[in-house]
Amino acid sequence: MSEKLTAYICRSCATQFTPSSTPPSECPLCTDERGGPIVPGPAFTDLVAIRKEHKQLIHKIAPELYGFAAEPKIAIGQRSMLLRSPNGNILWDCTPLVDDATVEWIEMLGGVNAIALSHPHFFSAFAEWSHVLKAPVYVHEDDREWVMRDDIPVTYWSGDRHDLHDGISLIRCGGHYKGASVLHWPGGADGKGTLLTGDVLQVIPGRDRVAFMRAFPGYIPLPAASIDAIEAALDPFEFETIHGGWWDFIVAQNGKRVVEASLKRYRGALATSGD
Ligand SMILES: [Zn+2]
Ligand SMILES: [Zn+2]
Repeated sequence: MSEKLTAYICRSCATQFTPSSTPPSECPLCTDERGGPIVPGPAFTDLVAIRKEHKQLIHKIAPELYGFAAEPKIAIGQRSMLLRSPNGNILWDCTPLVDDATVEWIEMLGGVNAIALSHPHFFSAFAEWSHVLKAPVYVHEDDREWVMRDDIPVTYWSGDRHDLHDGISLIRCGGHYKGASVLHWPGGADGKGTLLTGDVLQVIPGRDRVAFMRAFPGYIPLPAASIDAIEAALDPFEFETIHGGWWDFIVAQNGKRVVEASLKRYRGALATSGD
């Protein structure tokens, strides 16, 4: 009889691991300085248990843009976004809850032909999503060490930009993680452009500001060189709206100017004497 293998999921960060007979000894994402709060209780769960305790909530966010996340929230409340585009839909970031109802809904919308991941905190159950949706997964090669599934193929892209279809691009900003990326969708916001950022650029709800940090919620800031790199990476792109990693993390207008002003503010703070 073959040994029963389980794809364990970290309860604190929602990362799913390559199937094994016993839980991992620790979660590298959570022991890292950028790890979030540790959830009390057992360190690991699995998809069977998650499906019993959570439901997926799906919301329309904007024309041709949807979001979905587990409720009650799991770990940091990872949300996926589904972007509809003429030559194929894209799933941006992953939730840990993979359920039949959501898969059927995605298939009803035409399925997805790419799953793109911003950075390790939103990798979650990407392998499960890739398997059920039969879609390739895109991760920047500089974040390869944080991919905890070695049983599902991943397309690692390199450099500062990777073009998908319909003018949609993945842009490596770095900073939070070396390969941390955002997605630029020129068709978003009625053709004025939309940026999907996870917390690579952290939208500050209600303030028309974005923040840049190495570690949330450990509040470890980034050096000036990282701010310069983010500015250079985003320079060629125009965008009106920005959607961060969570529901109300939205910049509803003037996105490009909001990012430029936020970068300037950050540089200004670095240049002060601290008084
Ligand atoms: Zn973890
Ligand atoms: Zn993060």
